Amino acid sequence: MPYVVDEKGFYGDFGGAFIPEMLHANIEQLKENYVSIIAEPSFQQEMQCLLKDYVGRPTPLYFSKKLSQTYRAKIYLKREDLNHTGAHKINNTIGQILLAQRLGKDRIIAETGAGQHGVATATVCALMGLECIVYMGEVDIARQAPNVSRMKMLGATVVPATSGSKTLKDATNEAIRDWINNPHNTHYIIGSVVGPHPYPDMVARFQAVISEEMEWQLKEQTGRSYPDLIFACVGGGSNAAGAYYQYLDNEQVRLIAIEAAGLGIDSGESAATSVLGSKGIIHGSRTLLMQTDDGQIIEPYSLSAGLDYPGIGPQHAHLISSGRAEAVSVTDEEALDAAFALARMEGIIPALESAHAFAALDKVAFGQDDVIVMNLSGRGDKDLRTYIEKLERI
Ligand SMILES: *Cc1c(COP(=O)(O)O)cnc(C)c1O
Repeated sequence: MPYVVDEKGFYGDFGGAFIPEMLHANIEQLKENYVSIIAEPSFQQEMQCLLKDYVGRPTPLYFSKKLSQTYRAKIYLKREDLNHTGAHKINNTIGQILLAQRLGKDRIIAETGAGQHGVATATVCALMGLECIVYMGEVDIARQAPNVSRMKMLGATVVPATSGSKTLKDATNEAIRDWINNPHNTHYIIGSVVGPHPYPDMVARFQAVISEEMEWQLKEQTGRSYPDLIFACVGGGSNAAGAYYQYLDNEQVRLIAIEAAGLGIDSGESAATSVLGSKGIIHGSRTLLMQTDDGQIIEPYSLSAGLDYPGIGPQHAHLISSGRAEAVSVTDEEALDAAFALARMEGIIPALESAHAFAALDKVAFGQDDVIVMNLSGRGDKDLRTYIEKLERI
């Protein structure tokens, strides 16, 4: 079964480009050009150079002795937390800004929830000297003040989305409206493997650098270029898509997708889309999403802002529905405990999103001495306030 996108933009039943007529020309321009632009030697050279000297790649693949002893396996951490701006998101914004330049665009828009993608976008816009407008829900602006300040310091304009629940999906609607009104000079940088085709595939290609490095790093350290299992958290699914990319067709590699259960799957306060979701259309693609019987989107909940999304990317919907990937859900409390365990065991404070993946080590059965790669998608600086609240409860 093919796990990459087909020529119509689908992954099995999922994907496609369900967009307003007014966006057709923009999406068509991207679709016609993205593969060939990315393949150009000058594009590759510029991107590789920035990934190395600006982002700090390759990120290390670190063997954790203590986790390995605890779980009786060989556990490696892929250190995306060491990237510039603190997470994997910059891999995608670097790629998309270079693409935007080659498409002749000089104005960049983006949506952001917690502000991580907004910061990664504002960063590359500053680097390239392009105008940057970030749409962000009014509620999120209040909750994520440090990231709003970062974006402003980097020269971006942060525009509050004041409709609906005033969160990520409303910010996304505002960004789409902006693109419809400014089709010629503007590129929309989407932050995960979501949205209409070709975004899910394009973002996955930019994040694929994660598994490209893993192959040679594993070869060096274990003598074999693939692991037995890969663990990655899934909000929209971009860090997971990048960590899986080189191994999609290697069925010896088990792909573990960790979703946020929030207060619990049955609590009504959750973001475990693959369990609670059903087929529907969100932000331009057909995928699994949390919705009521009459198709209204259900507000998701997770303590971690990066996993607090009512859908998952169409490739993940396909991987999970077909059985290629195994979905596991992890609650807020389990993730918090895993974050503290990793901090004390290894001296690494993970992002709360990434901590969900570590909590799943307790929930998946694997063989003794299996080689496991944990994709450590980001660092925990941004979550310090949440961690301090937990400390005060211990
Ligand atoms: C945004 C974010 C995520 C979730 O996004 P994906 O597209 O699912 O990767 C996970 N981890 C960190 C650190 C993030 O910033």
